[in-house]
Amino acid sequence: MEIFRGISVSPGVAIGEAVVLEAEEYRIPYRVVPACDVPQELERYLDAHKASILEIEEQSAHLRAHLGRDAANVFDWHVGVLKDESLNDHIAGLIKEKHAAAAYAVSTVMRSYQRRFMQMSDPLLVERIRDVQDIERRLLRHILGESREDLAHLSKPVILVAHDLTPTQTAQLSDTRVIGVALDAGAATSHTAILLQSWGRPGVIGLGDISTHLSGGDTVIIDSTNQLVIANPTEATLDEYRQREEAYSRFSHALDDFKDLPAVTRDDVPIALYSNIEFPYESRAGIAKGACGVGLYRTEFLFLRPEGAPSEDQQYVAYRDATLGVEGKPVTIRTFDLGADKYTQQRSYEQERNPMLGLRSIRYSLRNLDMFKVQLRAVLRASVHGDVQVMFPLINSLMEFRQAKMTLHDAMEDLEEEGIAVNRSIKIGIMVETPAAAIQIKEFCREVDFVSLGTNDLIQYTLAVDRGNERVSQYYISSHPAVLRIIRDVVRACQQAEVECSICGEMAGQPLYTMFLLGVGLRTLSMAPANIPEIKKLIRLVTVSHARRVARRTLGFDTDRQVSNYLRDEMRKLLPDDPI
Ligand code: PEP
Ligand code: MG
Repeated sequence: MEIFRGISVSPGVAIGEAVVLEAEEYRIPYRVVPACDVPQELERYLDAHKASILEIEEQSAHLRAHLGRDAANVFDWHVGVLKDESLNDHIAGLIKEKHAAAAYAVSTVMRSYQRRFMQMSDPLLVERIRDVQDIERRLLRHILGESREDLAHLSKPVILVAHDLTPTQTAQLSDTRVIGVALDAGAATSHTAILLQSWGRPGVIGLGDISTHLSGGDTVIIDSTNQLVIANPTEATLDEYRQREEAYSRFSHALDDFKDLPAVTRDDVPIALYSNIEFPYESRAGIAKGACGVGLYRTEFLFLRPEGAPSEDQQYVAYRDATLGVEGKPVTIRTFDLGADKYTQQRSYEQERNPMLGLRSIRYSLRNLDMFKVQLRAVLRASVHGDVQVMFPLINSLMEFRQAKMTLHDAMEDLEEEGIAVNRSIKIGIMVETPAAAIQIKEFCREVDFVSLGTNDLIQYTLAVDRGNERVSQYYISSHPAVLRIIRDVVRACQQAEVECSICGEMAGQPLYTMFLLGVGLRTLSMAPANIPEIKKLIRLVTVSHARRVARRTLGFDTDRQVSNYLRDEMRKLLPDDPI
């Protein structure tokens, strides 16, 4: 049994067989064969081995002839690995002694090779991991040939294990039989994590090198509530987790009872819960979970399409559909938050050195005014279908806000000249995602209609921690006293200026922070739809006066540890039995 620790993306327990997804999307099925088939499996391996060496030697000769000796060196190294007797003995041994299928034996042994290189301190040797992966894929291609399967054709529920998933792969998970995900890469607020959260099944990411430890067919438990992945558990552990899986499913079903109840505190203060969405169809799903509208529509997900930038009409249809889905309730459309980890890097000629501090978000839109105007036209066209508000991300200065607002007004005038109806009094707001915006909140309040705290980025920029980098994820701390004080100050300034203030970062959907957020005065929280029932349950158990006391005490602590221990204790007092 092996235990891996990572970062949870959505709570729950899933138990199943692993499918390890390679960069080339190989599935390596776990299979042992009957004793009589062992010679045949051995032959499959030996044939693949021979074919791989021949193929590499041909490639190497070609390279040597055209590009010289150095270019061919790496392939000579591949041949060297394949001819390594201990490697061959190991693979053949697994087939002969354990009756492993050839593909499974290759995958298991090559993964242990990769691990060995991973542990080396010499960076040149670490680079060799990719070469080992290359060799593995080549052998598997010869063994599996045309029998490759993709995730769309799984015959039973599985746990997906991979180094990383692209947003496109993640967005497709709901059409598969994947019931849980474990990834080497990723951090809590990365885009893949956000998509996994809206997918709603258990997932743990930022696990380091789990994909090299597991092979297809291994039994895997995803315990995302405790941020754990357990591989090949003992019978006792498996039993225990089967019970937890059941308890969690009972708990989730019980939460459905809350979806039609109002979100009011025990002392009758109403709290507005909104949903964060990435796709238009989710606006309706949010309402079904009890949301009173969409608090954040992340429109940059329209770029997931392989064809690239969406046209004005395509955008209009998406914004209109999201608006119609909430039947007259408010929809806050955030303009493109492109850049950093979201789409533009892969497409740019030269990648930025510090993309999180680079040409991203509103900066990117203001630098690409034509694209920005197309989006604003589409938002304005959709504004007549309901209560649409527009929100600019990563606003860092008043000048940026004014320029964005001016562009919106330009688009409005153009549309009116063309005789197209728009809502002239559309509300315009900003996300507070940087310390600069938080510090100047009073000045912003004179010019904006509303403010939304984007704590995912606010934490990143306050603590100087890249939110997408798993190597520094332990420094990305929502309970840092500096973060909490900034939230308190922004909410307070907005109250004094009588400007609507909400929160749409992940903290809004984390029960740990609910009392604190209510206690500092927030009355509007926007979160992944899946989190709404649980947060509502908590709200209905608390009084505002108690939440205020909790917030005051929280703000008195010097360290994040004290904060999270205290908040956890307070939460447990209200929800002693919930498996969250
Ligand atoms: C945030 O930064 O808190 C936020 C909600 O926006 P995103 O996660 O899309 O950057
Ligand atoms: Mg953000």
